[in-house]
Amino acid sequence: MSLTYDVINPANESVVTTVALLNLEQTDAVIAQASKAFESWRTIAPGDRARLLRRFSEVVSAHREELAQIEITNAGHTRGNALWEADNVANTLMYFAAAPERLFGRQIPVPGGIDITFKEPLGVVGIIVPWNFPMPIAGWGFAPALAAGNTVVIKPAEYTPLSAIRLAELALEAGIPEGVFNVLPGKGSIVGNRFVTHPLVRKVVFTGSTSVGKSIMAGCADQVKRVTLELGGKSSNIIFADADIAKAAAGAPGAVFDNAGQDCCARSRILVQKSAFDSFMEHFEIAVKKFRVEDPNLATADMGPLISKKQFNAVESFLDEPVAFTGTAPSGPGYWMPPTVLLPKNTQSRSWREEIFGPVVSVMTFDDESEAITMANDSEYGLSGSIWTRDIGRALRVSRGVETGALSVNSNSSVRFWTPFGGYKQSGLGRELGPDALDSFTEVKNVFISQD
Ligand code: NAD
Repeated sequence: MSLTYDVINPANESVVTTVALLNLEQTDAVIAQASKAFESWRTIAPGDRARLLRRFSEVVSAHREELAQIEITNAGHTRGNALWEADNVANTLMYFAAAPERLFGRQIPVPGGIDITFKEPLGVVGIIVPWNFPMPIAGWGFAPALAAGNTVVIKPAEYTPLSAIRLAELALEAGIPEGVFNVLPGKGSIVGNRFVTHPLVRKVVFTGSTSVGKSIMAGCADQVKRVTLELGGKSSNIIFADADIAKAAAGAPGAVFDNAGQDCCARSRILVQKSAFDSFMEHFEIAVKKFRVEDPNLATADMGPLISKKQFNAVESFLDEPVAFTGTAPSGPGYWMPPTVLLPKNTQSRSWREEIFGPVVSVMTFDDESEAITMANDSEYGLSGSIWTRDIGRALRVSRGVETGALSVNSNSSVRFWTPFGGYKQSGLGRELGPDALDSFTEVKNVFISQD
């Protein structure tokens, strides 16, 4: 039986194309091919592997407009975001292209000989990608994995397979050998699950929901398979009264409504110091009403539609709490929802505790630094967050106090390919990107050579 999936444009509900989904036998065949390709990919001279990755980066850059257009049409991403995402793939590839020639082991002083360590590739790495940022999240897995000498099998999310399919063609065009970079559109329960159970897949990099992440971790235990998890979030935007309130308020819509709130780093809780609440809300309302929700093809768009009707319904279920104000959104076909600001009754409210993954934010107040930290940490998640204050000591104390992996002070940006990214608690396991990413795609081998 052949499986297919109709890819929908979420901005107008039209069918973009139909994609064939792989079954179990096809999945196994691609994994076998990736395992075979590993034998030659791992032995390519470091300088040559680096050159191929630089070439791949350049080919991605040359196709940035086309890749961005795919994501606008397939995922409803705004033009500005989609271009950034294509560039992020190229930049991440270029950053990790420097790694093959710098994958140093160590020489450790021991008696009776010399001792050296090697960082060996793992083999086939399985990368399971969600629909919210199809290109960057795939790239954060495949760029360091390839640089370390692994081959990759990538399963895009059912909703958003098109950019990954195109990246596989571009990899070949760049000269990446057949079998090294493989994209397998398919269902999580078939293709994704096979990455977990297949003994030749030596590591799973999973980004997605915390519930599926837990089942992947449990499944990987069976073969003691290496796993990196990037999961959900419920991050706080903490605004102290001494901050530049106008600036914090102007940045707050983008910090949560970017990508229609379908962002694991979304600052979906705003904590404002009581004395600054009125001033913040006044500025924030103006900023939310100015936030342009419109056709994502327009260069002026700040936000597009939600990914699906299912996601729309899930987000809508949070809208039974008191509303402070909303922005606007187009009507007609497409999964459009206006940005919405809620004032939950207390910290037990659903909107305050659960990841919404839509354009909805909850605002509450706090009295002092210690209450702000306690409120921010009162969550099973710990991914990102922002702190707004002019007091550098306070910025430092609160940064150290908040239990999350990626914080920003007087800024809302948490992702840079130069720096580690990942979560505390149930937001994940391990870190991606940055100088240490290669460690999670290699095994350390220790070799002692006797001098006798
Ligand atoms: P999801 O968990 O439903 O799916 C993610 C991927 O896993 C998809 O490719 C899906 O097909 C696959 N999958 C589903 N069931 C599987 C199974 N049993 N075995 C193997 N693979 C399986 O998540 P989603 O709805 O696509 O994405 C939204 C979620 O992702 C949100 O909770 C969000 O917070 C999280 N997310 C986290 C990060 C991060 O870096 N921490 C980044 C983006 C998204």
